[in-house]
Amino acid sequence: MATTAKPGHDCPRCPRLVEFRKKWRKQEPGWFNAPVPSFGSADARLLIVGLAPGLQGANRTGRPFTGDYAGVLLYETLLKYKFARGEYAAHPDDGLILTDCRITNAVRCVPPENKPTPAEIKTCREFLVPTIAEMKSLRAILMLGRVAHDSVLSALAVKKSSAPFKHGGKYALDTVTLFSSYHCSRYNTNTGVLTPEMFRKVFADVRAYLDD
Ligand code: URA
Repeated sequence: MATTAKPGHDCPRCPRLVEFRKKWRKQEPGWFNAPVPSFGSADARLLIVGLAPGLQGANRTGRPFTGDYAGVLLYETLLKYKFARGEYAAHPDDGLILTDCRITNAVRCVPPENKPTPAEIKTCREFLVPTIAEMKSLRAILMLGRVAHDSVLSALAVKKSSAPFKHGGKYALDTVTLFSSYHCSRYNTNTGVLTPEMFRKVFADVRAYLDD
């Protein structure tokens, strides 16, 4: 098990993801093309966990949810609920600052077709566990989608049956409360599975909980 929360630039653990990374390093040498680090301070009270970097989003820019469709709704909502300040302009130099919030992904490397395998999710949990552990002020984790939900439960050794995935789910553990949401992916928002109102409601709940 890794004791660091940050995989190396050339992390060798997942052969399929390494091959994919090599392909894109050759094809787009100007892109980030490496495990995408968490964004935001480890002192934050809120950790948001996404799925994995989007090919032309975080994998290109090097910042979670930055430069792809999912990031537009996420950062707009973070700004609305004061978990961010500044302006989101879809690139890592836009000056956007997360406030009391940190964003990471269940899988740090971009997977083909946005679909990490169960083995890749498990392997990358080596980094999720210390990412959570190093957050000494952590009070809330918001999991975006089922993969993030299940991986966080495993990272915390919480039984799936005691915290089933559902949009709007809220589960109080000893020191941390878990919040679940559908992922803010293009597919979910375009099909109406997740509306901006539904997403805002989750953030309103998290904000109310932290402000209580
Ligand atoms: N970008 C990310 O960094 N994570 C996601 O889950 C989706 C897009």
